[in-house]
Amino acid sequence: MATYKFASVPSNGERITYANGVLNVPNNPIIPFVEGDGTGPDIWRASVRVFDAAIEKAFGGERKVAWMKVYAGEESFTKYNDWLPQETVDAMQEFRVSIKGPLSTPVGGGIRSLNVTLRQVLDLYACIRPVRYFEGVGSPMKDPGKLNIVVFRENTEDVYAGIEWKAGSPEAEKLRLFIETELGKKMREQSAIGIKPMSEFGSKRLIDMAYRYAIKHCLPSVTLMHKGNIMKFTEGAFRDWGYEVAREKFPEDTCTEAELTKGGPTARADAIVMRDRIADSMFQQLLLRPGEYSVIATPNLNGDYLSDAAAAQVGGLGIAPGGNVGDGVAVFEATHGTAPKYANLNKINPGSVILSGVMMFEYMGWNEAAKLIVKGMENAIKSKRVTYDLARQMPGATEVSTSGFGDQVIAGMKS
Ligand code: NAP
Repeated sequence: MATYKFASVPSNGERITYANGVLNVPNNPIIPFVEGDGTGPDIWRASVRVFDAAIEKAFGGERKVAWMKVYAGEESFTKYNDWLPQETVDAMQEFRVSIKGPLSTPVGGGIRSLNVTLRQVLDLYACIRPVRYFEGVGSPMKDPGKLNIVVFRENTEDVYAGIEWKAGSPEAEKLRLFIETELGKKMREQSAIGIKPMSEFGSKRLIDMAYRYAIKHCLPSVTLMHKGNIMKFTEGAFRDWGYEVAREKFPEDTCTEAELTKGGPTARADAIVMRDRIADSMFQQLLLRPGEYSVIATPNLNGDYLSDAAAAQVGGLGIAPGGNVGDGVAVFEATHGTAPKYANLNKINPGSVILSGVMMFEYMGWNEAAKLIVKGMENAIKSKRVTYDLARQMPGATEVSTSGFGDQVIAGMKS
């Protein structure tokens, strides 16, 4: 067990444990949280009240989270001169399930993204982002309710692995010369170079998780989104490995699109259809035929773009949740960033963190609390008392603050 200098371990809680692929959650689990930078503290204050209210309503006094504040980002740097103390990473590993607000990342140079570091160090290899429509939210789409997908984005590899060199640096020049002389490929002088590693192991375990999710939730299809027509050995391999996973591990549960069309021997009405789409086509498909997609498994960068774009189709980043999940360790977080211009204004939408909490409670098996929060969100939005981002898209809506929206969600659980 780690020792903690900055954080303190709540004395009224117990550890979540993990053995043989199963999470064991006590009635009073210790859950570390990072408030986050910018708008993070405003959002966290509203969200934690919603979480506690849902647990209280769902389980009476029988279950209760012992929240453990841990430090990262600007607050941590100001107080402890450390952007990401090792003990924060240790706590997320030790206590298994945690939740965090957004952390700011300086662009170009300086420190490495704290979010990316956490995902890599804790090996949280799947970024899971469900995108669904809440009735009443303004949307640029004619029929936004048709979109109901879960994006499984590989989280540790691809160009996101951070293996890159500055243009003109000795390392970039050395690599360029190696590539030209040893491998026979041309590259312009003074090029910046980034490497895109994608392994069979990394791709397959992500796709495996996506299939398992589809099977568990009885979902109709898994689509492999890739750019394999151009990047054949990376993105193309991702697609091939995806089909292999289905054939090797889930032959009874899946069939290919081609088999289904031909009515072949393995095509069954109850099988999960597996298919692939090239990344650019995937974007237009989600706009034109959103109802045909369900689970989407994709490499890191594609998934980053697609999940934000899909969130915009159903009302924006203010209600876009996410979870970074590995084997027995998970960190839940909103899709959006710190939205710094709204910091400390009690204005921003806490919905993404609130819905990330829903994912967290589902992951813990606290489904009753998760369902109550979803009900609370649905009713809060129906009441048209919403934060600015939703209000500006909903005719007749009344704008409420971050904390006010939290109140609406809590009230919505009761109705
Ligand atoms: P952002 O913080 O996501 O904000 C961009 C815009 O999205 C906001 O100005 C706002 O739009 C809207 N938005 C974001 N969150 C919202 C919410 N909760 N409710 C309503 N609207 C919301 O993106 P950014 O400005 O590009 O990034 C700021 C910082 O966050 C950067 O340092 C970036 O690296 C970091 N970041 C962190 C994470 C993470 O921690 N996981 C993820 C992404 C970015 P309007 O202006 O239209 O109101």
